[in-house]
Amino acid sequence: MNLNDLTLARAHEGLAGKEFSSEDLTRACLDRIRETDEEFGAFLVVDEKGALEAARSADKKIHQGEASSPLLGVPVALKDAILVQGLACTAGSRILENYAAAYDATVTRKLRESGAVILGKTNMDEFAMGSSTENSAFHPTKNPRNPKYVPGGSSGGSAAAVAADQCIFSLGSDTGGSIRQPASLCGVVGLKPTYGSVSRYGLIAMSSSLDVIGPFAKTVEDARLVFSAISGKDPMDGTTIETPNSQLPAINLKNVRIGIPKEYFVDGMDLVTEKLVREAIKKLESLGATIVDVSLPHASYALAVYYVLMPAEVSANLSRFDGIRYGASLYRESPSSPLSEIYTKTRSRGFGEEAKRRIMLGAYALSAGYRDAYYGKAQTVRALIKEDFDRVWSKVDCLATPTSPSVAWRFGERVEDPLSMYLADIFTISANLAGIPAMSLPCGQDGGLPVGLQLMGPAGGEAMLFGVGETFEAVAREK
Ligand code: GLN
Repeated sequence: MNLNDLTLARAHEGLAGKEFSSEDLTRACLDRIRETDEEFGAFLVVDEKGALEAARSADKKIHQGEASSPLLGVPVALKDAILVQGLACTAGSRILENYAAAYDATVTRKLRESGAVILGKTNMDEFAMGSSTENSAFHPTKNPRNPKYVPGGSSGGSAAAVAADQCIFSLGSDTGGSIRQPASLCGVVGLKPTYGSVSRYGLIAMSSSLDVIGPFAKTVEDARLVFSAISGKDPMDGTTIETPNSQLPAINLKNVRIGIPKEYFVDGMDLVTEKLVREAIKKLESLGATIVDVSLPHASYALAVYYVLMPAEVSANLSRFDGIRYGASLYRESPSSPLSEIYTKTRSRGFGEEAKRRIMLGAYALSAGYRDAYYGKAQTVRALIKEDFDRVWSKVDCLATPTSPSVAWRFGERVEDPLSMYLADIFTISANLAGIPAMSLPCGQDGGLPVGLQLMGPAGGEAMLFGVGETFEAVAREK
């Protein structure tokens, strides 16, 4: 048996049945990382010692027959924006090169309490800004399906680590598509949960009205198991909500109406992607679902709205990186430099191009005289985008669309042209603006490069996405 290939559900079964130990499974992952990560670059930090200790303590619990969470003894990797006490946490930025997390994020604590084995931290676009992981200050991550291609981003390291079987599941964060788009490009499952359903305490913030933490996994069932373990209200994050029940009984597709928004099949999108997504929708129909054509009339404004609101929030959130806190003193020339010089030098040297671009865009959109014209107006249109979704839920139970307008592209193809990079998120951003759950799952390949199907549902409707996704996956697997 190749332990690296196991799904989370299967790993749990094997651990509980003592077919292998958590230490075996953890060593298999660490070996795979050692063998392949020089090429893929999915990890920024590997905590071999911590992982083996956690594995041994999980083995002890299994041995004592303690009632076990499905995550007990299972190796996981975390995006480098999520704090793990004592480990370096850079968010892919030079400005945090010297920073080690002082405490655990709530999701980290929940993973530990479930007995999961934390392997390390994965690479990402700097402060989660990007769609290819090329904006990491350290190194790019390669797509394990074909290393000449990008893995997507910003959580490219977490997606690649699952695709390369270096871990059994991973966590990322999604502000405009950063879980779903890399999941789609790497051929794994990625869930952006309902806004507020997973605590962000200990997540380095990008855009606070949009950010959500969620899982990457090999199957929809696995994503459901992880979501159950990490979601829930948290007194440390005032935006959190009670967890919607994700354990609903199996969904019968005969009772499900799936909407196909016409705005998500646009001119200029990749034809093979469109064909594969339409075939997946046909498959859902043949399984009994009712397919309904719907319209989300304000969808075409989503990208423009996002690129006003997100930079505005970024400019506020990144102002805390000032050269004094968070280990950033490394860019200070002398301890007695004047304050303004410390700020300027640290931020000019510590932030990369994309972070600077967004800080400037955001500061401009919020500046006196422009705030109403940009930020205010974008907020108004955001409400209209949300209302489009609210209206559609009276007609359908969920929506099916492509996750990304194209498959993965080659390194360097889009870095010089920020707009073409921004367009990669055209189908994922609306779900963040509306706060609704959305999931990407593999639905085919074009020349070996995966294509993702995106399912979106009403706020708190994860169970519907899991139900539809698991049914689709079971059929796709049979083929
Ligand atoms: N790619 C998008 C951006 O660059 C989304 C990022 C994200 O979801 N963190 O902003």
